[in-house]
Amino acid sequence: MSLSGRVALVTGGTRGIGLATARALAEAGATVVLTGRDESRAKEAASAAGAAAGLALDVTDAKAVSALVRGVAKEHGKLDIVVANAGIMEDALLGMIKEELVDTTLSTNVAGTLHTVQAAARAMMRKKSGAIVVLASIVGEYGSAGQTVYAASKAAVANIARSAAKELGRSGIRVNAVAPGVIETDLTSGLSEDAKAENSSRTPLGRLGRPEEVANAIRFLVSDEASFITGQVLGIDGGLVL
Ligand code: NAD
Repeated sequence: MSLSGRVALVTGGTRGIGLATARALAEAGATVVLTGRDESRAKEAASAAGAAAGLALDVTDAKAVSALVRGVAKEHGKLDIVVANAGIMEDALLGMIKEELVDTTLSTNVAGTLHTVQAAARAMMRKKSGAIVVLASIVGEYGSAGQTVYAASKAAVANIARSAAKELGRSGIRVNAVAPGVIETDLTSGLSEDAKAENSSRTPLGRLGRPEEVANAIRFLVSDEASFITGQVLGIDGGLVL
């Protein structure tokens, strides 16, 4: 599954699944650029992951996303792989949902993913090839109490992949989503031990997932091994059904 000679961009690559993905792509031989909201953390993460560069980017800023993607493609001569990973999760029961939570979740998870996919498509269109992966979630498929806003945002992300795949297929660009179950990262570090134990016990594989296990699936989806796979939402969840 060599990615030698490929140029890859991973958003939200400073920690968790994004960092593991940047590392996995770099280990497979790709030239990787990762982004984070904070420039110094992005640079640190890039050197930890063996990435070529770490740049500051807020994915809610459409113009900044477009400029950064164009800049990466220009500097490296092309852009083959984009992983739209940046995302946030904040829980709230229906009666407690504040407008601000709706705005930040939808602007980061939905609009941020959309901006990234749009910019990636523009950059890849010239070469008529490319592979994009977006980060959906198991809760986008099944729903989750206390996570209505987040689950809705991730259902939208899955449909960004399905729709973009239909639109971009004839341009040689594949678009897929991964839908992780519960993965041990900062995002889920607020879960109580009871909640973690309950999720593990409901998971056929009997445990939570690791960021590297999501990264490995992403590396497969962006590789030539997955050359006839597009528009799919791949569950990486140990068999968990919510
Ligand atoms: P994490 O919180 O560890 O990392 C998220 C990354 O996104 C961070 O680098 C953060 O700085 C970045 N980010 C957040 N908002 C941003 C913005 N506006 N602009 C740029 N970067 C921004 O989370 P993680 O667990 O590694 O999650 C990565 C992705 O996977 C997210 O989209 C998340 O929704 C999804 N996911 C995670 C799980 C899980 O169990 N951890 C499950 C399903 C889906």
